Amino acid sequence: MRLFLQLIFLMIMVGVAGQEHKKYVAVVHGGAGWIQRENTNKDQETAYHQAITQALQLAYQAIKSGKPAEEAVVAAVIALENSPLFNAGVGAVITYDGTHQLDASIMTGKNRAAGAVAGVMTVKNPVLAAQAVMNNSSHVLLSGRGAEQFATQQGLEMVENTHFTTPAMKQKWENSKKESSSLSKQDLPEKLGTVGAVALDSDGHIAAATSTGGMMMKRWDRVGDSPIIGAGTYASDIVGVSSTGWGEFYLKTVAAYDVHARMQYANAGVQEACAAVLSEIKKLGGNGGIIALTHDGKVSMDFNTPGMFRGAVAENGEIEVYFYGDEPR
Ligand code: ASP
Repeated sequence: MRLFLQLIFLMIMVGVAGQEHKKYVAVVHGGAGWIQRENTNKDQETAYHQAITQALQLAYQAIKSGKPAEEAVVAAVIALENSPLFNAGVGAVITYDGTHQLDASIMTGKNRAAGAVAGVMTVKNPVLAAQAVMNNSSHVLLSGRGAEQFATQQGLEMVENTHFTTPAMKQKWENSKKESSSLSKQDLPEKLGTVGAVALDSDGHIAAATSTGGMMMKRWDRVGDSPIIGAGTYASDIVGVSSTGWGEFYLKTVAAYDVHARMQYANAGVQEACAAVLSEIKKLGGNGGIIALTHDGKVSMDFNTPGMFRGAVAENGEIEVYFYGDEPR
């Protein structure tokens, strides 16, 4: 009997230890919003599952081949920008005026280098423009036409603005046009869906990146949180963060930096820090999600909307992908 109990105790301890040591090397999101089982069919589930898995595989390959976390998040975000399923790059939401204005940002934790672009219309992969701002300019944030001139000079691939239009998004835009003359408070929360990635490389360095088309029917060159370092993206030597949600609230709470700050100054764990930031956002009337990855491979993929497209890959290559509110976060 005693031996039996010892054996059970040992198995529990191994289980607990095993959990503690599950180390993640990358996490991605494809936006938070009204993602529910009852509104999602099997084909959609498969398509989203494949897209999130592919982004995680690309990040994992980069990390495994010894590349810096920066390369891993760029690879993951490019794949998601090129997928028509997400509100970033191809498939981006449409502005009130019928165009696409894209925002992206990137940050590396080891030196707090950062780069971002806002309101670009012809850069095929906005995350590459953000990366070029970080690495090849003395600035952090470039916007509009200037950002496009810079991207062109950097030799990045440029496309027509219509490159980003998908029939599904055009249809949604036409419906929105009929329903309301402009962005209204009531319909804002349904129109979420950005992409982001955080990775941890074999040197223990973290990078985070975010890319979005912003919010449907946005007007007057509105800029959300995604290209704002500290709101949409942040990386330190403690944690990397990418946000998705109703951007105005992420700006007001400086959401991504607040996750870092709670961990650094209040000793909060990553899950606790993300939950606290999301609860602040909710208190103010906003919603969305946050992904975060710590220097020791702990992950959080929390949200206060019904669902969030999300996934993480562990050190051993094991991939987890989730969409709904009743799955791990
Ligand atoms: N945060 C983005 C914005 O406000 C939108 C989103 O995440 O879906 O522009």
